[in-house]
Amino acid sequence: MTLDNILEEIKKAQTIILLTHEAPDGDAIGSTLAMKTALKTLGKESDVIIKEFPRTFEFLPNAKEIKQESEIKKYDLAVSLDCTDLRRLVGREYFEEAKRTIVIDHHGTNSMFGDINFVNPVAPACCEILVGMLTYFNIEITKEIGTCILTGIITDTGGFKNQGTTSETFEFTAELLRKGVKVSEIYRKVLEIKTRGNFELLKRTLNRMEILENGKVAFTYITNQDEEEVNIEIGDHEGLVEEGRRIEGVEVSIFIRQKNHEDSYKVSMRSNSYVNVSDICYVFGGGGHPKAAGCLIQGNIEQVKEKLLKEIRKVI
Ligand code: AMP
Ligand code: MN
Ligand code: MN
Repeated sequence: MTLDNILEEIKKAQTIILLTHEAPDGDAIGSTLAMKTALKTLGKESDVIIKEFPRTFEFLPNAKEIKQESEIKKYDLAVSLDCTDLRRLVGREYFEEAKRTIVIDHHGTNSMFGDINFVNPVAPACCEILVGMLTYFNIEITKEIGTCILTGIITDTGGFKNQGTTSETFEFTAELLRKGVKVSEIYRKVLEIKTRGNFELLKRTLNRMEILENGKVAFTYITNQDEEEVNIEIGDHEGLVEEGRRIEGVEVSIFIRQKNHEDSYKVSMRSNSYVNVSDICYVFGGGGHPKAAGCLIQGNIEQVKEKLLKEIRKVI
């Protein structure tokens, strides 16, 4: 069974590296740190490489041990968490050089780029996959590991509200509460508190939000100039795409963010019920989940908007 193989690889490895996707969110960071902490209980040290670390997640156990790069070039084992494909993986070179590789993920569009792939598209967060995995490995989910895992679950389920949220999610959360994990404190830290930069971007994105296609599509954007004017920090764009889909009648919310001062935009899409935004993003080389997905598109704001609307019109 895949899980037995994963445990075997972990036990065999002397050097382990844990990696995740670019622009890491709570699930990306939560799952790598949960894994790092869990591996310690097996007597295994591991390196975590995350290059753009949002300040919001500094409170997580072992966050201080995260590195930007490593002196080891060839690891015995590389594990990718919460990442769809090699192109989005930060520290890709370590993964490509590693003797053995494992992919643990919950994206339906995962390209299965590891020697062993453990992908469950039904899991609401990569962190939720770890609950089952660690239990199977007989690793106790301590307060520290639970804090990391719950962070990923809370951020990827939008605070237990997305449809993917399972009964296990609540059962696990209840168990963590009993163990002393500060659920409401984590919730507030990762979802409620806005940085000043995020708040300033929110004002701009709301002001310029367009409601299109008979009220079914919300569209907004930020440019590199906006980011400079409000002095953003890493991660300040998180959550902005959620605003559009809260508007009555809106099925698809689009938020685009300029990349590198070029005519190139990182697209975030969310839907409410029937549009599969992952399929739309897939057309542009991206992917994600049916109701939350992303991609990168070339062009200016109007061109990117038109390209997306052309695809959306087919299904809306
Ligand atoms: P975001 O809008 O960046 O929060 O991403 C929404 C979901 O889509 C997340 O699960 C991402 O991991 C995934 N995603 C975002 N961009 C891409 C991409 N270019 N390729 C594949 N998956 C993506
Ligand atoms: Mn993620
Ligand atoms: Mn995720």
